[in-house]
Amino acid sequence: MMITGKNYIGNQLSAKGNKTYKTFNPKLNLENESIFYEASEKEIEESIDLAAEAFKVFRNTSGIKKAEFLNAIADEILILDDTLIKTYMSETGLPEGRAKGERGRTIGQLRAFADLVSEGSWVEATIDTEDLDRTPIPKQDIRKMLIPLGPVVVFGASNFPLAYSTAGGDTAAAFAAGCPVIVKSHPMHAGTGELVASAIQKAVQKTGMPNGVFSNLNSAGIEVGVQLVKHPKIKAVGFTGSIRGGRALFDLASQRPEPIPVFAEMGSVNPVILLPKAGKNKGVTLAKTYANSITLGTGQFCTNPGLIFGIKGKDLDDFIHTLSNEIVKIEPSCMLHPNIIGNYERNKTTALQQNGLHMTAEYEGDIKTNHARQTVTTVEGATFLNNTTLHQEVFGPFSMVVQCENIQQLEQIISNLEGQLTGTILSDDNEVSGYSSLIEVLKNRVGRIIFNGVPTGVEVCPSMLHGGPYPASTDSRFTAVGIHSIKRWVRPFSYQSWPNELQPDELKNENPLGISRLVNGEQTHKPI
Ligand code: NAP
Repeated sequence: MMITGKNYIGNQLSAKGNKTYKTFNPKLNLENESIFYEASEKEIEESIDLAAEAFKVFRNTSGIKKAEFLNAIADEILILDDTLIKTYMSETGLPEGRAKGERGRTIGQLRAFADLVSEGSWVEATIDTEDLDRTPIPKQDIRKMLIPLGPVVVFGASNFPLAYSTAGGDTAAAFAAGCPVIVKSHPMHAGTGELVASAIQKAVQKTGMPNGVFSNLNSAGIEVGVQLVKHPKIKAVGFTGSIRGGRALFDLASQRPEPIPVFAEMGSVNPVILLPKAGKNKGVTLAKTYANSITLGTGQFCTNPGLIFGIKGKDLDDFIHTLSNEIVKIEPSCMLHPNIIGNYERNKTTALQQNGLHMTAEYEGDIKTNHARQTVTTVEGATFLNNTTLHQEVFGPFSMVVQCENIQQLEQIISNLEGQLTGTILSDDNEVSGYSSLIEVLKNRVGRIIFNGVPTGVEVCPSMLHGGPYPASTDSRFTAVGIHSIKRWVRPFSYQSWPNELQPDELKNENPLGISRLVNGEQTHKPI
């Protein structure tokens, strides 16, 4: 499989635009060879028209057929084998183990959605049968289920070229829902994106999906994304990336004559609270664990622990000391792209320019180009509370330990934090039970709370909530990970007094799909 640098406009490879760009190998500090052609306005328009046409068929495609499609995508991605892994590595500087792990996760997500839609009960079929004898007003037959929104645009993240990009969670969930997808390919891994797009295209053809159910558009600037989000035939947007990018797209979508939802998963600093006894009895072990978590994947995870809170005193001093000593023992690693390392350095410098922030560790040995120096800083609680610049994400291997005067101040700080993906409590046995009000405050700020662990490493399973109050995500009611993320791409729809034979299979009296339904208040697989 060769990388052509072209866009997939439905099933067609196309390169009508004249803007080109290349991806970059941060390990070698060199541009990669392939030339990518940014999608032209006309190509964008074509992909949207095809998606709107495809929706007419795809919205009524059965769960079994959609499952075949999703499984075929997974199979085709596996067939790309080493070509995909090597391209991924050359465009990210990430190691082979990570590339294969992320591929495994992507395949797992596609298959999980395949299972979900082939079983079928996810549509939440709800039926209230008629009661024409009811007085004073007869009750009508009403039946409700979830139906797809329409063509969806997906923006992939730089730091997850597979799992949160072309055939990542957003795309898999949208296909499962019955929505065509146009991917705005991430410019840093356009080759990986094209390979995965080719796998999707093969799956489209093998399983007889309508042309236009998927398009992949190249771009190295914001114009393509902006044109897509503004287009009246686009009905929803999935985004993973920076707060600035997500917010810009959210605002754009809200300003349309017909506003549409933007599900943006954005930055987070993931507060960690070291309770006093935990600091005293296992602070050293925890500091070592956290040195690893902060530097995992060169800190390029949205769940990276960027803020650690403790109560001022000797135990916290010891924790900071050990964390600082341990973190500089770790060999620095490569960041995804010179832009990402540039942002890291800039954001770190901005933080360090703030009054009262002290650096307690920074890797000082020689480092290779595009490698990041891991850094630990510390600040007093009152200083942190009064300076929101210190609350901002420094995307990379950076963490700040906030030394609070007492629990009241810690609680006040947590209640003033912006929304976060995760919050972690480090507790000595059941010490946590004495801090119920602090826990309540933390729960109000985050999407997931962790006991005695690290926030990095997001398990993909139905009970996972990946999201959180703004700006962790633009809509805290939904998850971006796991099968329930399908709910972002659907809307509830009711049929009133509709003839049985014209109902979708999910709602027919006979229950031909054998799904679980809520019938007159009772959850059942039985026909009516
Ligand atoms: P990014 O700079 O926001 O870019 C993401 C995508 O959005 C790119 O394709 C970019 O296009 C596009 N874009 C950005 N601003 C735009 C605008 N104003 N209008 C239209 N399109 C726009 O983010 P990134 O550097 O790829 O990712 C790193 C960030 O993602 C970190 O902050 C990290 O915490 C966050 N992240 C969050 C999660 C999560 O699940 N919450 C997961 C992973 C990463 P161009 O590059 O072509 O301009």
